[in-house]
Amino acid sequence: MIILAADVGGTTCKLGVLSEDLDILHKWEIPTHTENDGDRILRDIYESFKKNASLKNYQLEDVKGIGLGVPGPVDFEKGTVNGAINLNWHGVKHVRDEFEKLSGKPVYIDNDANAATLGEKFKGAGQNEPDVVCITLGTGVGGGIIANNELVHGHNGSGGEIGHFKVDTKERFQCNCGRRGCLETVASATGVVNQTYYYYEELQFTTVLQEAIENKEVQAKMVFDAAKEGDEFATYIIRKVANHLAYAISVISVMTNPKYVIIGGGVSKAGQFLIQHIESVYKKMTFKPAIEGTKIVTAELGNDAGIIGAAGLIKQYVK
Ligand SMILES: [Zn+2]
Repeated sequence: MIILAADVGGTTCKLGVLSEDLDILHKWEIPTHTENDGDRILRDIYESFKKNASLKNYQLEDVKGIGLGVPGPVDFEKGTVNGAINLNWHGVKHVRDEFEKLSGKPVYIDNDANAATLGEKFKGAGQNEPDVVCITLGTGVGGGIIANNELVHGHNGSGGEIGHFKVDTKERFQCNCGRRGCLETVASATGVVNQTYYYYEELQFTTVLQEAIENKEVQAKMVFDAAKEGDEFATYIIRKVANHLAYAISVISVMTNPKYVIIGGGVSKAGQFLIQHIESVYKKMTFKPAIEGTKIVTAELGNDAGIIGAAGLIKQYVK
């Protein structure tokens, strides 16, 4: 048997054929057509699966199920998506029903951050442990929590929305969700930039970033690079970012006591440098038994986490 998987994004959809053990047999991409309320997206994905069956020599009869990761709030039980801005979907869309009708196969959907978390658990840095948390630091902050082998969805699908955990009690920066002070506003790529402008004004450090700050051209990577070169101000900012992440991880640790906390996304490319800072703060502030054996690690699957995790939904739920 094989599993088909799609990681649906606003620009492209990553598609894959995977074995039941979640090894990628084939993968490819198609453009996402978001015009007309994105009403072609699901059909395009299905047509591409069909077309590639003959190209890549697999049989649709052998498909055990189809997993989809989508960039929006998902009701896991109902298989619906309640609006996905990047796909131009508005209101409640019955994605599972639509795709099951197209394909005649069992379909499971989850949001992309949860799917990526499941991928890292099964085949990546999560080492197949039953308690794993993933924090993805990109333009925003995504997250997923797996406790006792199950993704935490919560009654309204907001379980694991770590990016909107309020850590900045001063509420300095506006979040995309409409609130202020979310982890996303201080620890994403945008958050690194937010903090750089804020503290430069407040503290008047001397820094190699001065020109970029004054021209409002700062990017997160510049701050990390400067910190690695020993720039005092940049290091100060990275410590601030790490403090917020450590606090969030500390709270999660006494809730589900994960074995692995996996840091992924573009910002995580700063790698060990960022993790060392997070770890040293985390160890000082966290309930001691919750630290025992918990490891903070970088994600291993990169862009493949999404399709591996989407296929993981079928491995986990279709018996
Ligand atoms: Zn928020």
